[in-house]
Amino acid sequence: MTHDPTADPGRDPRLAHGWLHTARFLTTAPQLEHLPALEVPEIAFVGRSNAGKSTAINTLTQQKRLAFASKTPGRTQSINLFSLGKQGLTDAVLADLPGYGYAAVPREAKLRWQRVMANYLLTRPNLVAVVLLVDPRLGLTELDEALLEAIRPRVEEGLKFLLLLTKADKLTRAEANKALSIAKLQSAGGEARLFSALKKQGLDEVATLLWRWTHGPAADGGEKEGHGLDPEGPGPEPEPEPLD
Ligand code: GDP
Repeated sequence: MTHDPTADPGRDPRLAHGWLHTARFLTTAPQLEHLPALEVPEIAFVGRSNAGKSTAINTLTQQKRLAFASKTPGRTQSINLFSLGKQGLTDAVLADLPGYGYAAVPREAKLRWQRVMANYLLTRPNLVAVVLLVDPRLGLTELDEALLEAIRPRVEEGLKFLLLLTKADKLTRAEANKALSIAKLQSAGGEARLFSALKKQGLDEVATLLWRWTHGPAADGGEKEGHGLDPEGPGPEPEPEPLD
């Protein structure tokens, strides 16, 4: 077998899946200031509880329990980072952010997590893309809308954004088409896709997209410029904003 130099995981889903399947646990950060400063591009997965985030991450990475979000309402959850890259070389990172919107969580805790998320999404220097997972039967919730509003300026500056409509297998074709049209309008200039872990729908598109977003010219440029947030370049750990 000869090595094909033209092989491109940005176009070839098999190669993109092979890359995603290298995912391994990197670290967990109970608070923003515990997140390590990283040079490699980072993709954040966010969504309300029960949106299907853990299932999507586990399906994309083909690892049963990589993302095993605690289902205990109100428990302070952490940001989990997973490394991606062949031969043990990390060339990108997935960040699994805590699910939000449990009805049972006290308002104070909800507001605190909203601030943590907004802080992360607005200040993480190596963040290149955000995947917002939404159950299309429920549509965007108030917290999803708030999150979208918060990152809109960064999306306008080049942050990649994907509105991923989960559990698409539960929709009829007409419902799916309608949900996708609405999501495209809501995606703030980003992308929208249907996804079903159960039916393996949308996996190829998401896998190749994630590769392109972390290996395309924009990812390199964004990295070097640090999104204008850290003009000094790599140095001491940036001072995180207080969470409370
Ligand atoms: P999370 O809280 O966002 O991490 O959500 P989970 O991944 O735990 O999923 C919430 C529920 O939706 C679980 O009961 C899953 O089995 C279900 N679910 C997730 N993805 C799919 C899917 O693609 N199709 C269907 N039918 N159910 C799904």
